[in-house]
Amino acid sequence: MFRLLTLVALVTALACSTVQAVQAEPKIRVLYLGQSVGWRHAPVTRPHNSNGPTPSEVALAEIGGQSGAFSVESTQDARDITPEKLKTIDVLVFYTTGELPISAETWQAIQSWIESGKGGFVGLHSATDTHWDYSGPSQTYTAFINGRFAGHPWTQGAPLTIQSLGGQSPVNRAWPSRFAYAEEIYQYSDYDPKKVRVLQALDFTETPLKRPWFVPVTWTRQIGKGRLFYSNLGHTPSTWNDARYRDQILDAIRWTAHRLPGSATPNPEEQALWALRSLLAFDNRPRADVEARMARLTKADRTWLLDAATRTAALRPLWPEKPQSDKSAFETAYRALLADVLARSEP
Ligand SMILES: [Zn+2]
Repeated sequence: MFRLLTLVALVTALACSTVQAVQAEPKIRVLYLGQSVGWRHAPVTRPHNSNGPTPSEVALAEIGGQSGAFSVESTQDARDITPEKLKTIDVLVFYTTGELPISAETWQAIQSWIESGKGGFVGLHSATDTHWDYSGPSQTYTAFINGRFAGHPWTQGAPLTIQSLGGQSPVNRAWPSRFAYAEEIYQYSDYDPKKVRVLQALDFTETPLKRPWFVPVTWTRQIGKGRLFYSNLGHTPSTWNDARYRDQILDAIRWTAHRLPGSATPNPEEQALWALRSLLAFDNRPRADVEARMARLTKADRTWLLDAATRTAALRPLWPEKPQSDKSAFETAYRALLADVLARSEP
């Protein structure tokens, strides 16, 4: 069942104007899927004892209404997305979990729609905690979005520092280039740094809970003529009321609809440098030492750099699942890689 929250959006558009206004463009038509087959988050939960809109449905209607940039239909049933339906929309937004009921025919149609440049895709938070069995032409959903949930060491309220990568982009301009935040943040399996341009990531020199590998937060991807945006932010209900998050969603919808410029050229070397920064920060080295070593590592041999980053990513599956588990496999690999990186970055 689709919901149109035009009335809510109209009322709030008159009440406040926190979101930038966009004029003189035909409205982008957004279809928002907030389906939870697995874990159900608060932003996609209907109000108690009612069939009313969810907090994220209200927020998207407000962002679209206040900016004038898009209209949004919302559903919690992926079966509402059909090849016919795709002809009437411009951007799909997913805040989903679990195995969605999307047929092979529809998934092929969605991918063709994006590759042709007719459609864009925006994934929010648990859109990477979503997958379903698919074998057919083109990609699985996990390969398409480029990552699958592999735990969230940073739970709701965990203090973080988020850093921009990839230079100034229309889809990270809403936030400062470096800022403190508190959110639930995922790490990923099936993540390929060569496929995406990462625009925001955790900086472990200023994040208390450290890991010695790269943790991207926001990325973009070019798929044929189409565009994909993903942000891990949005678990915590208050994030949805943050004007910066709302502006980023607006920018992401406009960018995926080709209304904003901006490269999605993958930046694996920049990601690799941030992976080594994570490794050095995990060793609890002073920030000045980390910065000095990073300056040297920017001049490192490219092949060695990318290989070292791959080795940091390989540490993640070795991380002990429980505090009392045997850490020796992780420790051995971590110590060897750290020694190599320290030798390469020695003054
Ligand atoms: Zn979550």
